[in-house]
Amino acid sequence: MTYCRRKRIADKVMDEDEIKEESCTLLELATQTMDIDSAIEWMAKRRLLSNSVNCGTCGEPCTLITLTKKLDKKIWNCRRHNFTQSIRKGSFFERSRMSLLDLLLLINMWVEDYQQKEMMEQLHVNKNTIVDWCNFLREVVEWDLQKSPTVLGGVGEDGTPIVVELGESKFLNSRYHKGQWRAGHWVFGAIERRSGKCCMVEVPNRKQQTLEPIIRQWILPGSRIIADAWVSFDLLKDIDFRLYSNDSVVHERDIVNQNDPNVHAQIIENTWMRAKRKLKKQCGTSDALFSSYLHEFLWKNKVKKKPFGHLLMTISRLYPV
Ligand SMILES: [Zn+2]
Repeated sequence: MTYCRRKRIADKVMDEDEIKEESCTLLELATQTMDIDSAIEWMAKRRLLSNSVNCGTCGEPCTLITLTKKLDKKIWNCRRHNFTQSIRKGSFFERSRMSLLDLLLLINMWVEDYQQKEMMEQLHVNKNTIVDWCNFLREVVEWDLQKSPTVLGGVGEDGTPIVVELGESKFLNSRYHKGQWRAGHWVFGAIERRSGKCCMVEVPNRKQQTLEPIIRQWILPGSRIIADAWVSFDLLKDIDFRLYSNDSVVHERDIVNQNDPNVHAQIIENTWMRAKRKLKKQCGTSDALFSSYLHEFLWKNKVKKKPFGHLLMTISRLYPV
């Protein structure tokens, strides 16, 4: 046992805005966190591990000591009171036996849309471990989506209504699979044309009582709504239509309206295509995980500029250390 007498890991811990700005490639991350000491410091700086711990008996700051037989080779200790605490305690990583560096790399790969097979090969871990961690990460981003829900539309700074496209589409189309009938998933969605911000949700049907609360929740009054045939003009009219600007509805097959080329639903068609391609690849035939994969798509669409930093910040919020 050797003592390095450190009472805290990093000299300075980053604030949320700094963590959010983090964007490094897999190679950069691997270089910055090459050994266990630099990996621990990198994580403490970003609030993923406690930067200091107080003794449970005397309340004085513990010392970080090296214990080679431990998983992370480091542990918090108060020698006077025989108090020890794992450096992972209370963190997102507490439940895992994987090395901290591998967990960081896994998070980076997940953000960058690596296939599970590639993660298995790169990190030399089994499929169940990868599946579990991808599930944990989806739980984190689902929490983030719930905490800060996306709202669309409203009135722009110049006083003109912001255009929001509404529509629906069927994912993982109805089919027989291994002798079983699969119904597919109806998804209702909205996208703000100028920013590309979008909302999507799986819906059991297209009834007014299903869609109305969703539209109210997502779309701000004053928006210009362009919808395809499924979201009928009548439906919008029934939902206190005065709240939204009066506009024409584009027919499903008629993606560009002949009378007004601005009235089209191309952006949403494009987003459906991206979402479908991704979900088909990821979720295959797993109906149970459909919503969770849909949330992953929405979250990644939302934070596309700095997804890694945003994810680290969300983990540090959900697992404060
Ligand atoms: Zn003590």
